[in-house]
Amino acid sequence: MTLGSGEEILKRADEMAQFSAMEKGLTRAYLTKEHKQAHQQLSHWMALAGLEVWQDSVGNQWGRKASSNPTQPTLIIGSHSDTVVNAGKYDGNLGILLGLEALKQLEGIDLPFHVDLVAFADEEGVRFNTTLIGSSATAGCFQPAWLDIKDSDNIAMGEAMLSFGLPPELAGKDARLPQEVKAYLEVHIEQGPVLEDLNLPVGVVTGIAGAKRYQLSVKGMAGHAGTVPHALRMDALCGVAEMITTIETYGLEHNVVATVGKCDVKPGAVNVIPGDVVFSLDVRSPVQGDLEVACNELHSQLEEIAQRRELQLTSELTYQAEAVPCNAELQQQWGKIVEKQTGTKACFLPSGAGHDAMVMANITDIGMLFVRCEKGISHNPREQVNAQDVTVALNCLVDMVQLLANPNSAEA
Ligand SMILES: [Zn+2]
Repeated sequence: MTLGSGEEILKRADEMAQFSAMEKGLTRAYLTKEHKQAHQQLSHWMALAGLEVWQDSVGNQWGRKASSNPTQPTLIIGSHSDTVVNAGKYDGNLGILLGLEALKQLEGIDLPFHVDLVAFADEEGVRFNTTLIGSSATAGCFQPAWLDIKDSDNIAMGEAMLSFGLPPELAGKDARLPQEVKAYLEVHIEQGPVLEDLNLPVGVVTGIAGAKRYQLSVKGMAGHAGTVPHALRMDALCGVAEMITTIETYGLEHNVVATVGKCDVKPGAVNVIPGDVVFSLDVRSPVQGDLEVACNELHSQLEEIAQRRELQLTSELTYQAEAVPCNAELQQQWGKIVEKQTGTKACFLPSGAGHDAMVMANITDIGMLFVRCEKGISHNPREQVNAQDVTVALNCLVDMVQLLANPNSAEA
């Protein structure tokens, strides 16, 4: 370990943050001047680290630590280089820079597989109304119809690719095949407060949460707030209030998070008993089965409340995404490595946010490590990580590559 590796990585994150569409602040969208500049910088650093560099069909930047005798499929390490509007410096970029430093440290060590480092050019989907374009192309999920999606300046993705120097007809044609890939590793900031709360520098990701969203509608009877006694009311909002606390209690007691974020009360007057309430329900879990069970149980509990209060409940599913588990063996290996590097038992936690890894799971096993970020703040210029934590994450990543190269070593 080189002392100060964490600081070195943070310095590079500062340099990357200069490639921005904003004067003061960081915004870097897909197929822009900033995208090109940032990837030129990364390509330069990758070449200095002894990697073979190339840009793929959709503008992802790659660097390969080539094996002299590859006897196993290629290991891919990566994250995304694009950002949200007025972003922090570490979301995505930290994972790329950690991969770069890890391969620098492994320079001169011959591994039984190539290691490809990738900077995915679009994950956030800020410019075109679709996300995860970069990893979708690598994982064979790029949809040619996306080329027609226009940005806010009415420029289609295909046109933007042409101006960037990429032939749109080739987009996604260089996808990797499952048998060519050993695994995909991604280190990412947590974007939540759990590791900070536990005072841990890193944590092992168990999976990327699946989500279901509903619009629920509760019908009661509007009435005069002064003349209708409580026993004779059918107050839709009181029913929904009970439903919301039931939802919260369920989330506290089960492996899900459940949130009511929107609530619309009608008629919405101070002197009228609420007759109609429409509210949202967002349920997430890293385990698809738990998510399904939770949604069924919650619906029957809410229905029970509605019936007891003589209210009518209807529910409509408005969005769903499947949970994507991280590979169990990779989780176990991260766990051992984290314990060795930190001297404490590893924390295993789900990701409530989406990541490139969930797309890469279409072609290979995924393994993710989270790095503590200050107060869990992300998608915000105040996003912050500390150098010691980054050094711990780096050491874990270097150990992981070596463990995958020598699974029978007593090291971890
Ligand atoms: Zn991210």
